[in-house]
Amino acid sequence: MPIKITRAATGRGIIDQVKALSGIDVNACLQCKKCTNGCPVAGFTASSPSEIIKKLQLGAGEEILDSEIIWICASCATCFSRCPMEINMAEVMDALRVMAEVKGAARPRGNAPLMNKILLGTIRKFGRTYDLGAMALYKVGTASYTKDLDKLPLLLKKKKIALLPTQGADRKMVKRIFDNLDKTRKKPT
Ligand code: SF4
Ligand code: SF4
Repeated sequence: MPIKITRAATGRGIIDQVKALSGIDVNACLQCKKCTNGCPVAGFTASSPSEIIKKLQLGAGEEILDSEIIWICASCATCFSRCPMEINMAEVMDALRVMAEVKGAARPRGNAPLMNKILLGTIRKFGRTYDLGAMALYKVGTASYTKDLDKLPLLLKKKKIALLPTQGADRKMVKRIFDNLDKTRKKPT
């Protein structure tokens, strides 16, 4: 979906908020597009990582939060590993997701936001992702109860996923991070 850039009243759009949340100055981007060329999801959505950065540089406002790539970014950090300016686009995407949540921005079709919410929920509860629990919740949320269920025994047998949540995570510390995030979100902007 093409995004029309609308300059905010300040003329700087949301670039400063992105920097405050992610710690990343996207103005350092050279637009070499190495990130986009290596991004595994850029081919499946209308916007690419370098395009998102270009729009931020040009003063894009909150309309950029409607971009589908925010939700299908796999946080693989391939872009970061390829970037000559060491711009961590995965963290920029994290910041944009937080801003999209806070502002109630339009969600793309599909189940990526649901999966994102479920996985974050398991991290909040167990300190790390709990894949089996997330899969169960996802199946309930999408009413896809039996889809791909035949693969579960093999996944368990090969220890690709664990039956129970991982032990050893610092749950208290992780909970503190989420609680602090909640407080940040409640602050008026
Ligand atoms: S690889 Fe880095 S410098 Fe190049 S376009 Fe992507 S973010 Fe910009
Ligand atoms: S972290 Fe996101 S934007 Fe970067 S390469 Fe991976 S999927 Fe693409």
